[in-house]
Amino acid sequence: MLPDRLRTLIHLLSRLPGVGEKTAQRYVLFLAGEEGALAADLGRELTALADAVRPCERCRNLAEVDEQGHATCSICKDNRRDGTLLCVVARVQDLLAVERSGAMRGRYFVLGRLLSPLDGVGPDELPLAMLAARIQQDGVKEVIVATPPSVDGEATALLLAQELTPLGIRVSRIASGVPHGGDLEFSDQITLGRAISGRRSVDVPR
Ligand SMILES: [Zn+2]
Repeated sequence: MLPDRLRTLIHLLSRLPGVGEKTAQRYVLFLAGEEGALAADLGRELTALADAVRPCERCRNLAEVDEQGHATCSICKDNRRDGTLLCVVARVQDLLAVERSGAMRGRYFVLGRLLSPLDGVGPDELPLAMLAARIQQDGVKEVIVATPPSVDGEATALLLAQELTPLGIRVSRIASGVPHGGDLEFSDQITLGRAISGRRSVDVPR
């Protein structure tokens, strides 16, 4: 019924998180119908995306690539941030959620994934060496682990405490309040703010 090109576009859009076949079809018909300018703007931005945006070289948040070819995010560039406080999150969405709570005055580090032995993700899959280097370069004194309250999130917090406590820093975990199995992204700002201010040190079993 539809031209091949539109069917291809529907297929591509329906691979995005939260976009099903019907929504993708609605987008494509809208773009092909009346919004030619929007389609052109989207096309230009999407084409530039892979070259213009990369994980920040310091924290793996997303950052724009500068003229020298380096990517440093706005949080790492912000000198008013407390460099001795580092909040470790699993994903960029979680960084944005913690940032919205207004309770974090330090900087961040994005792991990219959680430790998940059942899914075959071991410690070697996490950027622990990069994190340790960052801690030593910046003179970080406390790492706040803001991984989600799930089995994998707790396992990751414990691994970080085991790896980082020997560096002579405090490793703390956000307090409960975010429901178990819940998603930081969907926690309200007040709950997340309280979880951060009520954080506790992680005890490393001997
Ligand atoms: Zn950064």
